[in-house]
Formats: sequence, structure tokens, C-alpha cells
Amino acid sequence: MLYDTVLFANGGYDMVEKDVVYKMNVDEKKTLYKTEYGGKMYYFCCDACLKKFQKEPQKYK
Ligand SMILES: [Zn+2]
Repeated sequence: MLYDTVLFANGGYDMVEKDVVYKMNVDEKKTLYKTEYGGKMYYFCCDACLKKFQKEPQKYK
């Protein structure tokens, strides 16, 4: 199953964070797109999502 393969590649659920803009899972160890807001780290799948979040971070809290 494709889902199992993805999970295995990520080493399990612990390392997977949610991209709050795109509502998809992001590997916090691999992604280059992250930012801190309100004392919490946020992870994104791509530059566009990061920029969108930084524009109005309060929207995604
Ligand atoms: Zn994205």
C-alpha cells in the first residue's frame, strides 16, 4: 500500500507535522519551510504555504 510506504519513509507518525495552510502532512525533519509563531513551530510543504502563513499567521492559529 502506498500509505504504508509513505509512513515507513517518514519513520512513523512522530516526525509528521501538519501544514496548517494546505492541511497536509509535512515531515518536520525534511521540510525546509518552517517558522515559529506564538512559541510554536509551524511546518509547511512549500515556500508558497510558508509565505501565506507569514502574511496572516493569526488566521491559522
Ligand atoms: Zn505548500
